[in-house]
Amino acid sequence: MQASPLESTFELTPITHLKGVGPQMEEKLAKLGITCFRDLLFHLPIRYIDQTQITDVAELRPSTYAQIEGVVVSAHVAYGKKRSLVCKVRDDTGSVCLRFFHFTAAQKERLATDTQVRVCGEVKRGATGVEFFHPEVEVLVPEHEQHYELPDRLTPIYPSTDGLTQKRWLQLTDQLVSRLKSGQVNELIDSKFLATHQLQTLSQALLYLHRPPVDANLYELSLGLHPLQKRLALEELLAHHLSLREQKLRGNTHDAYALPRAKQLERKLLDFVGFTLTNAQARVIDEICTDLATHTPMRRLVQGDVGSGKTLVAAMAAIQAAAQGKQTALMAPTEILAEQHFRNFTRWFEEGLGIRCAWLVGRQGVKERRLQNEAISSGEALVVVGTQALFQEGVEFHDLALTIIDEQHRFGVHQRLALQQKSKTSAHQLSLTATPIPRTLAMSFYANIDISSIDELPPGRKPVTTAVIAQNRRDSVIERIGQACESGRQAYWVCTLIEDSETLQAQAAQATWEMLCEALSHLKIGLVHGRLSSAEKDEQMQAFKQHQLDLLVATTVIEVGVDVPNASLMVIENPERLGLAQLHQLRGRVGRGEAESSCVLLYQKPLSKVARKRLDIMRSTNDGFVIAEEDLRIRGPGEVLGTRQTGDVQFRVANLDTHQDLLAKAVEIGETLQKENPRAAHAIIERWLGHRQQFADV
Ligand code: ADP
Ligand code: MG
Repeated sequence: MQASPLESTFELTPITHLKGVGPQMEEKLAKLGITCFRDLLFHLPIRYIDQTQITDVAELRPSTYAQIEGVVVSAHVAYGKKRSLVCKVRDDTGSVCLRFFHFTAAQKERLATDTQVRVCGEVKRGATGVEFFHPEVEVLVPEHEQHYELPDRLTPIYPSTDGLTQKRWLQLTDQLVSRLKSGQVNELIDSKFLATHQLQTLSQALLYLHRPPVDANLYELSLGLHPLQKRLALEELLAHHLSLREQKLRGNTHDAYALPRAKQLERKLLDFVGFTLTNAQARVIDEICTDLATHTPMRRLVQGDVGSGKTLVAAMAAIQAAAQGKQTALMAPTEILAEQHFRNFTRWFEEGLGIRCAWLVGRQGVKERRLQNEAISSGEALVVVGTQALFQEGVEFHDLALTIIDEQHRFGVHQRLALQQKSKTSAHQLSLTATPIPRTLAMSFYANIDISSIDELPPGRKPVTTAVIAQNRRDSVIERIGQACESGRQAYWVCTLIEDSETLQAQAAQATWEMLCEALSHLKIGLVHGRLSSAEKDEQMQAFKQHQLDLLVATTVIEVGVDVPNASLMVIENPERLGLAQLHQLRGRVGRGEAESSCVLLYQKPLSKVARKRLDIMRSTNDGFVIAEEDLRIRGPGEVLGTRQTGDVQFRVANLDTHQDLLAKAVEIGETLQKENPRAAHAIIERWLGHRQQFADV
């Protein structure tokens, strides 16, 4: 077949054609999903730093990113709570300490007294006043002076993996960036759309985002709201929309199992669980059951704010399949969440109804996995809960009738598709999400997907009271937590760290845990972070759930789905670093029980005006929709350090929380493009969703 002129051979050139990519590098890049030029072009910086200037030591301020030059005055290993390397650097205006928690002997030697260094990194308030926390240090050799020119553009920081330095990323991307300028990337969006919507070309956008100029608006970039990020996000949303449209055009098959409504079992489950459904839950369950009753495969997305009771809705759907002796697979994005669901479902289905459940997660040993697989392939287990392990090779469902994807936005298109392919017939598909998109917009964007909304919280919920408090009043917050826990309440303490490294995040959480253990020695305090094994994480979560722990110190690993109704207090450190959507998800972990709940946003001074406003939004409302809207309204310049908002993995660039204004545009462009230029439409799908064009089923 002749290659379509729209297909870009440049984009598909193997990454090994770049200088410096040998077999080892190829393997490392493949781990990050990078195998061709296009993948690397779309591997965008996670943040940017300004290394174009040198700041005087006297001018350093906490919570900023800075670069200084000076001489090493001293370097020694300090033995506090943790061993650390402390190095003092002086310039003409003063001196400052650099602190490293992990370091090698060679690193220490490099920092000999009188060495000239350039230091850049995050400035924090530390034991000796402001300090650099794990900065990058470059030794300046006077003879090489010409090498130390300051860059004239912002320095991009790429998401990385062990053994791939930022220098290497620069070397690699430099090779592509230079070719962007010569127009090697095809523009697939018609120039008339570019003009009407005032869009720049894809090449311009990629060039800018890989190498932004010094005056780029860092605040916008950190929120993903820069016009050129939005240009990319628009094309990505367009690709998804087009793919959904194509699917709609192809029409539905009619080979799903028809599952008549099993009212009796429903009643039995509700009696066992002891809840009365909210009106919204009942309505959504009706909608689902109507779909399930026909041979046309259901494609339904349920939107419901955090805490609205989506799990029970999922259970009610699973019951319809179980009643016919057919299987349901429920996929969750993390092991913590899969385990929680498995426990709930086991209690509800096995104890309550005598319906067997199985589960699959990555950490299960060979023997355990075999047992679970047997129950799944024999059809003995009718409800199967798990992580992505559900669609690994060797997992054979006996008769899969329904797939449920919890926290749908946490899965990429291919993962969702892989689960779908486990069924012999077309399985019905239900997706659950807490990302709020206005209903009419969602309906037009999702083309062939039906939307249900749970727009009501279970009764008796009291809104979470939110306080915005500065770090210098941390002691009184700790005291308050102590008192609350003594009176039988449970609390979360959430640590956030700007560093992308999981290791550093874990260390920060560990340090906070140690500090809290000291300050609140009469409490039982647990710790979960990404560096623990999943068994260790579960152990801590279970202990917390069973109230063997009073306080749980955690990184944002607890953001999705965790449900411990007795926990009614949450402290979030440095909330100014997180997106509001993420804060809302985190805060949604409390306020799930009878007790009055509260959330303390413990921020670091000084707070910019905009940052202040954003935290005030959190204080003034508990409504996810309102928060998303307000978040969009108050963008403006400011000195934000934040990383790009995390969580949404279905897209590379787009984010349904922040890019809602682009959905309508994607729909508008998509409609015309599909009619007028189907080849371009197809190339856009191919560019963003890859060769497997089967589709971005939600
Ligand atoms: P989410 O929508 O965030 O996934 P969950 O399914 O975890 O929410 O439900 C939140 C909490 O509300 C859980 O503790 C759940 O048991 C409880 N819940 C769900 N539905 C009801 C209901 N109809 N009445 C009372 N409590 C409910
Ligand atoms: Mg949930």
